[in-house]
Amino acid sequence: MEKIVSLCKRRGFVFQSSEIYGGAASVWDYGPLGVELRKNVADAWWSTMVHARDDIEGLDAGILMHPRVWEASGHVSGFTDPLLECKTCKKRWRADHIEDAGCPRKPSVAPGAHKDCELGEPRLFNLMFKTFMGPVEEDASVVYLRPETAQGSYVNFLNVQQTARQRVPFGIAQVGKAFRNEITPGNFIFRTREFEQAEMQFFVKPGSDDEWFDYWLDQRLKWHHGIGIRPEKLRQHAHGPNELAHYAKTAIDIEYEFPFGWQELEGVHNRTDFDLSRHQEYSGKRLLYIDPGSGERFVPYVVETAMGVGRAALVALVDAYREEEVEGQARVVLGLDPRLAPIKAAVFPLMKKFGQPEIARELLKGLRTARIPAGYDQAGSIGRRYRRQDEAGTPWCVTIDRQTSEDRTVTIRDRDTLAQERVGLDHVVGWIRERLG
Ligand code: ATP
Repeated sequence: MEKIVSLCKRRGFVFQSSEIYGGAASVWDYGPLGVELRKNVADAWWSTMVHARDDIEGLDAGILMHPRVWEASGHVSGFTDPLLECKTCKKRWRADHIEDAGCPRKPSVAPGAHKDCELGEPRLFNLMFKTFMGPVEEDASVVYLRPETAQGSYVNFLNVQQTARQRVPFGIAQVGKAFRNEITPGNFIFRTREFEQAEMQFFVKPGSDDEWFDYWLDQRLKWHHGIGIRPEKLRQHAHGPNELAHYAKTAIDIEYEFPFGWQELEGVHNRTDFDLSRHQEYSGKRLLYIDPGSGERFVPYVVETAMGVGRAALVALVDAYREEEVEGQARVVLGLDPRLAPIKAAVFPLMKKFGQPEIARELLKGLRTARIPAGYDQAGSIGRRYRRQDEAGTPWCVTIDRQTSEDRTVTIRDRDTLAQERVGLDHVVGWIRERLG
């Protein structure tokens, strides 16, 4: 992990928030490469979940919602983690994560293991951030920063179904920020208090929910494989009765083997009709679906797929990170799937003369016109320029050399195989397009 964190900082993937003020704990800013990576993860998700299907619609609900939403959803009363505090060192842990935790004092031992440690009883701690709507800080104006995007999809269920003329089964997808006042954030961007979620709520007829649950679990695994994550690094973890959230009938986590162990990457949940029924009850408005064919009326069940976008970006980074020796020299390379790579192609003039920079700039312009994110580098040896792009995960480097002005061909070097191919200057854009799929 240290190597990933250091690469992220060095190359501008992720910076510590408010660094010049000493940093804001466990808040991270995505730099030029990171913002592209995270966006590419979200776009790959959106493309599969929304654009490639006719039974899922997109939505972007507000982060702030009516406070009653969170009473209905059960978050005000039940979105809690058990907080355990040591009265001696003042350190706090999540009681259900205590096996992996350590006492901050030396020698490092399990919490409570030092003689003078004094662990209190676990207390339930609500994870929602509270704030105030309007200028007066009074109870009536308390609102919450949403801890999940899902509720925005439930309260808009009929709006979306009717305007998009969808029939059950269909889904609503959202990508957006969520906030949780986590007791123990950490492991870099794995667990943060502000994060982005890509969630999809699939509304189905009660009775067909188990089948749809299996379908969505399978689809989501395939998606992770499809963006290049090694299948042997992914596994499923079914929630036991003690782990199940208050709304869930079944829940399976897709876990990834991070350097700090197997941890959840995405959750697939059968939320039954819990959320829609509760919103009916609390709002007094009907959230019934009436089947236009059979006339049947029912409150749909919901199968949810919920993934953290930053967490998926971290998985992409961890999974892609390699250290290798190439021609006697060490290199660090991010073997990212080209669709996720922040920069798709880097253009290098071999020399700063003989018209090579001008040809390189012309090619760069062509790539940009074709909306292919591209970079330009003319500083340092060609080897060093390759290394810089390897670390950024750039799949292809295009070099303009002396031969280019003779026959208008360039070399394209592949990040992973290191193979170099000579391609006509006018075909570079098409060549890259074809490989981006
Ligand atoms: P945990 O039990 O680890 O706190 P959870 O089971 O409550 O997580 P979900 O509510 O299922 O998580 O959230 C769906 C997804 O959102 C998770 O699989 C994860 O990828 C992401 N996620 C949840 N909390 C965080 C967080 N604090 N930081 C980053 N991503 C998060």
